[in-house]
Amino acid sequence: MHDFDYKDGRLCCGDVPLADIAQAVGTPFYCYSLPTLRRHIQAFEEPLAGVEHQTCFAMKANANLAVVSVMARHGLGADVVSGGELYLALRAGIPASKIVYSGVGKTDSEIDMALSAGIMMFNIESGEELEVINARAGVMGKRAPIAIRVNPDVDPRTHPYISTGMQKNKFGIALEASLEQYLKAKEMPHVEIVGIDCHIGSQLTEVEPFIDAVERLKVLIERLSRHGISFRYLDLGGGLGITYANEEPPHPSAYARAILEAVGGLGLKLVFEPGRVIVGNTGVLVTRVQYRKQTPKKTFIIVDAGMNDLIRPALYDAWHDIKPEQMRARDTEQVDVVGPICESSDFLARDRVLPVFSRGDLMAVMSAGAYGFTMSSTYNARPRPAEVMVDESRYFVVTQRQRYEDLLSGQHVPEEIMGR
Ligand SMILES: *Cc1c(COP(=O)(O)O)cnc(C)c1O
Repeated sequence: MHDFDYKDGRLCCGDVPLADIAQAVGTPFYCYSLPTLRRHIQAFEEPLAGVEHQTCFAMKANANLAVVSVMARHGLGADVVSGGELYLALRAGIPASKIVYSGVGKTDSEIDMALSAGIMMFNIESGEELEVINARAGVMGKRAPIAIRVNPDVDPRTHPYISTGMQKNKFGIALEASLEQYLKAKEMPHVEIVGIDCHIGSQLTEVEPFIDAVERLKVLIERLSRHGISFRYLDLGGGLGITYANEEPPHPSAYARAILEAVGGLGLKLVFEPGRVIVGNTGVLVTRVQYRKQTPKKTFIIVDAGMNDLIRPALYDAWHDIKPEQMRARDTEQVDVVGPICESSDFLARDRVLPVFSRGDLMAVMSAGAYGFTMSSTYNARPRPAEVMVDESRYFVVTQRQRYEDLLSGQHVPEEIMGR
């Protein structure tokens, strides 16, 4: 559950009316609830109390420094997929020993950076990557701790763009090939096998695919042990879904119970990489209505947030609830809520029945705490929005809205290209 509710007819985060924040920081902005964030961390951690484990928050869901600092404070580690995320995780106070590094395209310099930092493990996604990591570790006089990210070929039954654990996906190494890579890794002088990993997709609303994956991994673990290969960590990735509309994903406690039962007795330290389930419902995107526009076919509500601010509807056809800032009696109508970007895919909601909005009204796009700001861009030269964190009756701007000058950052016009 979250912390965004009406008080005296005004939509608030905790005790703070979103309209007050809009007044002070302008629109659009992301608003995160600190108490909700803490509650979600606890909801994930509680069922795992007493179980040897490390939760590594998937930074790509929300890399805000304040948000990740809260994770660090609660003992969470990080799952990073780039040098930039590694940098941010360390800056947020997450110790390197709690950082796992996933992703199919790690560059030499990113690998070096992770080796220098001394991360917990690399999740290896290809045979070539394994060789490169062994070589880089050799150059640096280190041993790289590795797990192989196994692609167990299970269907997570989610949107195809966020499914990662099927044979047709670019992620991980197929079961049979994983055995081969482990045998190779065992012979490599600068690599230490510390774990086994899988991550099958995102926004999963059932536990069965997770359990299928565990079962397949167990068979592989057994085969590896017959080859004298053992390790400390079993990394089960992230992917637990949240409620955007009427999905009914398992509660983290049900997820934990099912997983603990499935892994029972392996004696491995469990690693989890949740992203969305921790932050998704901690945040909303607040935007202001600019115009109403009637065409023969549709009514458009044109707002000041676009696909550059929140791309999920355009990219995944994702559904986000939309709430008016003011709860007052009014008619409803069917509308498209669209942004100012020059693309027809620039919508936040399509064919949605909503209360009638007028120019100047505020609305909240709900469940925007995951894959919201992190996926934002400056497309159409739109400065990226502000991020605000609310703690009960206080709020803090944790990321300044970009200024126009920021759009020029790093740019340079060489004299030589200017005609005389
Ligand atoms: C994206 C990702 C996650 C987190 O996924 P969620 O659905 O947000 O929990 C975890 N692990 C890896 C490797 C990922 O790429």
